[in-house]
Amino acid sequence: MTDNDVRHVIIIGGGPAGYTAALYAARANLSPLVIEGFNWGGQLMITSDVENYPGYTEGVMGPEMMADFRRQAERFGAEFVTDDVTKVDFSEQPHRVYVGDDEYRAQTVIVATGASARQLGLASEQRLQGRGVSYCATCDAAFFPEKHVVVVGGGDSAMEEATFLTRFAAKVTIVHRRDEFRASQIMLDRAHANEKIEWITNAVVEEVLGDERVTGVKLRDLTTDETWEIEADGVFAAIGHDPNTALFLDQLDHDEAGYLTTRPGSTETKVPGVFAVGDVQDHVYRQAVTAAGSGCMGALDAERYLAAVEGHLMAAEAAPRL
Ligand code: NAP
Repeated sequence: MTDNDVRHVIIIGGGPAGYTAALYAARANLSPLVIEGFNWGGQLMITSDVENYPGYTEGVMGPEMMADFRRQAERFGAEFVTDDVTKVDFSEQPHRVYVGDDEYRAQTVIVATGASARQLGLASEQRLQGRGVSYCATCDAAFFPEKHVVVVGGGDSAMEEATFLTRFAAKVTIVHRRDEFRASQIMLDRAHANEKIEWITNAVVEEVLGDERVTGVKLRDLTTDETWEIEADGVFAAIGHDPNTALFLDQLDHDEAGYLTTRPGSTETKVPGVFAVGDVQDHVYRQAVTAAGSGCMGALDAERYLAAVEGHLMAAEAAPRL
């Protein structure tokens, strides 16, 4: 199927950045099409209480907030395709975006595909995913009432996940590969103050144990090289994120980690009419509010680009023919 319309704007990705871009583009009468992904909502769908998004004075659950963002964009006429983009072609105007055999075309594309949780990279981890191995405490914590779970990582995500898990689990053990933590002091202090949380530092998970379900982990002490096993009912990996940029790496500039690069102070990529917003191009701030702000910038940049292109077309049409 080819969508016969050449759209003004296609937005790829349905997180805070994508939906904010959609809201602004819709209110600018650009009739955006949001190809939001099969699992729309992004990382906020696996976040518990969001207490730092301005305006939600009492806090809000991540999925509820994303549904609000989506509804607000829809209210002004944004359209949605709830599926994953499989290919893009930014080599000529109009730009092309594919969902399987379906082709969509647009003058501008705003890339807002975000980032995803990193995995430990163990065969046993793969085998036991959904059977005790998780990357989302908000989604899965309730499956561990009065159990013992291990959280891997030393950043804010690990502190947040571990603290949230203590609402359900009897005991949470944080396993971190160093004895210094990347997490912010406030999150670290909160986790330290929690009596249900225990700490193992300078150690890594070498294997997730269990046949049908997780029964424990094998750890390696990085200072002594000693290995030992502890019993556990669940393992939550909270070790950071990777940008969702595989579709774009051959067509857009990116850094070593795969984050898309944009012109400083703008959301422009090296391809005219293609913009990148949110976590897909930001590995520093990575907050819902900064992603939303970036989505707004992307829509404004796309609008200006379209105005400039249309201005040129009108000037060309008005020029005397020789
Ligand atoms: P992060 O800050 O990159 O931390 C990742 C942690 O995982 C690090 O401690 C790292 O260890 C460890 N790690 C990485 N790969 C590992 C591996 N293969 N095996 C074992 N450990 C591994 O990621 P994050 O915690 O997801 O946070 C990302 C950003 O989001 C940060 O800017 C953070 O402040 C922000 N954030 C904020 C909140 C909040 O404010 N509510 C919540 C979550 C995240 P090393 O330290 O040794 O590298």
